[in-house]
Amino acid sequence: MNKGKKLYEGKAKIIYETNEKNFVIQHFKDDATAFNNLKKANVEGKGVLNNRISEHILSSLDQCGIKTHLIKRLNMREQLIKHAEIFPIEFIVRNIATGSLSKRLGIPDGTILERPLLEYCLKNDDLGDPLIAIEHIIAFNWAKESEISQINKMTFRINDILTGMFRGIGIKLVDMKLEYGKVWDKNNEFQEIVLADEISPDTCRLWDVNSEKKLDKDRFRKDLGNIIQAYQEVARRLGILPEKTNVSEVNFGKTSSIKFKKN
Ligand code: C5P
Repeated sequence: MNKGKKLYEGKAKIIYETNEKNFVIQHFKDDATAFNNLKKANVEGKGVLNNRISEHILSSLDQCGIKTHLIKRLNMREQLIKHAEIFPIEFIVRNIATGSLSKRLGIPDGTILERPLLEYCLKNDDLGDPLIAIEHIIAFNWAKESEISQINKMTFRINDILTGMFRGIGIKLVDMKLEYGKVWDKNNEFQEIVLADEISPDTCRLWDVNSEKKLDKDRFRKDLGNIIQAYQEVARRLGILPEKTNVSEVNFGKTSSIKFKKN
């Protein structure tokens, strides 16, 4: 599979075309951004870790019958994926209230939700990814009602599977953002809806079960330091990095490699 020209560059990833029109290459960068691009930094090694973590999570979901865009990981920073037409919607599923939910509605941080809460945001950086209702999605044709109902089911199933998977390694899955797309086969026949993008500590909130230490991008958003150490801890517990045991006390060292970028 040959790597062709750049098709799209996002905040944390680049998509390249390949010589096969139904496949593209997803490249994971070290760039970290928060607050709609107001805060930017280069976090050395983040792309490599997210590539491995996301590969592991999407492959595990595939084994549970969830269709995903992942074909295979190619190298330290790249994956071969199906070329999907991405719905312009972020599907945010929450198990514990925090972040923008707590801020927006005044729900105390850390409140355990009786059942998972699904929210929709429009993928639009200029507008700051605003919260939208199903009615907006239908009215503006961002997805069909039947597609949303299929994606809702997939989202709750993924949340169930991953909540259990993370619990097993001493981590609470607090919330996460999922993206989906439509894929076509070689004959241009619509094939299916797939889980797309990535699932990693960049797109999930992950708290250590015992200490509630944050093992995700909130370390960057809130200037908590030790970002890479936290991502490594997640990878180690998932069994991706060499390990002695896969659950132990979170003990961050002093080092932190982070270079802030000027806007
Ligand atoms: O900021 P907020 O509380 O809405 O984020 C909910 C979840 O969605 C968090 O896990 C966050 O990392 C993720 N998210 C994301 N990309 C966005 C917005 C939120 O990955 N653009």
